[in-house]
Amino acid sequence: MAQHITLIGGGLVGALLAQQLAGRGFKVDVFEKRPDPRIAGFVGGRSINLALAERGLHALRQAGLANDVLQRAVMMRGRMVHTRDGRSGLQRYGVDDSEVIWSVSRGALNMLLLDAAEAAGVRFHFGQSLVDADFDGGRIRLADEAGVARGIDAPVVIGADGAGSALRAAMNHHTPLGERVEALGHAYKELEIPPAGTLPSELVDRSGGHDQFALEPHALHIWPRGGYMCIALPNTEGSFTVTLFLPAQGAHPSFATLPDARAARAFFEHDFPDVLPLIPDFANDYDGHPVGTLSTLYLQQWHLGGKALLVGDAAHAIVPFHGQGMNCGFEDTVVLASLMAGAPGDTADVFAEFQRIRQPNSDAIAAMALENYVEMRDSVADPHYLAKRELGAL
Ligand code: FAD
Repeated sequence: MAQHITLIGGGLVGALLAQQLAGRGFKVDVFEKRPDPRIAGFVGGRSINLALAERGLHALRQAGLANDVLQRAVMMRGRMVHTRDGRSGLQRYGVDDSEVIWSVSRGALNMLLLDAAEAAGVRFHFGQSLVDADFDGGRIRLADEAGVARGIDAPVVIGADGAGSALRAAMNHHTPLGERVEALGHAYKELEIPPAGTLPSELVDRSGGHDQFALEPHALHIWPRGGYMCIALPNTEGSFTVTLFLPAQGAHPSFATLPDARAARAFFEHDFPDVLPLIPDFANDYDGHPVGTLSTLYLQQWHLGGKALLVGDAAHAIVPFHGQGMNCGFEDTVVLASLMAGAPGDTADVFAEFQRIRQPNSDAIAAMALENYVEMRDSVADPHYLAKRELGAL
């Protein structure tokens, strides 16, 4: 009889893991807090689009989904660095288009993964939040959107419920996992550059011959300004999602000293004068969109024997500056599904082996992501850095 796995969280990592486990003969039920995005529309919390890199693409290839995803993605050949004096230049990621990354919509990707998992036989239960777990009794407690709670049997439960994981909290309550959360002290806010057709034509960069986009679409744009920066990633329909990264407080500029669109507009006029005119809805975006906080999660223990395991952000949330959180979570799914298929029923050994294999990788990516913040907001515009890059040293 097929082994039954209960998964908490039907986000990017949960949906891909569910698809791969079902494809390997496991019976999988996923409980997801939010409503079904394919019916209710996608309720984003953060980052409207994401950079998909080789690490994540490799996992999607294993799942047979890479081509479908790439059809909905925009290729980014390198960093387009915009300096204070209004100049810009592309720093390619590789020598040619075999080394690129891709901008994908979080909502579209999540829905594609849900469809693929359902097609593989996964059962999704939307509007169901994990509230608590009794690991010794093999049961979990869920609440629906009205807050009505119920208990179900779940002898093996995997948490893909993100950085604020409720399963992790329940596991920690049972046995301390050695959790440490390091806040970055910097935060972010998202703004939008609409498709070129909605902007005055003199603002649109037509140098690359792309009528639909206000800026070169095949690049990850960065406006580095020392202690802070803006970035922009393209969306298939011609818009860009701009993310402003600033200290949360204790400095100027920071989100504390730029509490509203009026203060932020003056700051953009001074620091990002070429970005501001491209954001016609600046006041609504700035005042309406939340400030997101950023931190790195370190855990000593990712599992409770063979009863419970954490994957993706629930196990190793990182800051987004290497664009690798989802990519790393996707890599988790390939490793875990293959270990589980190799030793069905032996979850205690499999979960321990999964942590042994994956933790050094996620620790390394966490460190690289922290380093890359300094590089993106500062070094990429430094003449010494650029000279070294031209000499092939970086
Ligand atoms: P999540 O995406 O957080 O999904 C968790 C799911 O669990 C959600 O659907 C949630 O509703 C559900 N859930 C939560 N609590 C419960 C509960 N109690 N019960 C049931 N369900 C629950 N990564 C990249 O690779 N490239 C990028 O370019 C990139 N850019 C980023 C930019 C920003 C600003 C941020 C903040 C992150 C970025 N990341 C990026 C990281 C990426 O967003 C995460 O690594 C990725 O979303 C992790 O996926 P996940 O499925 O583990 O968690």
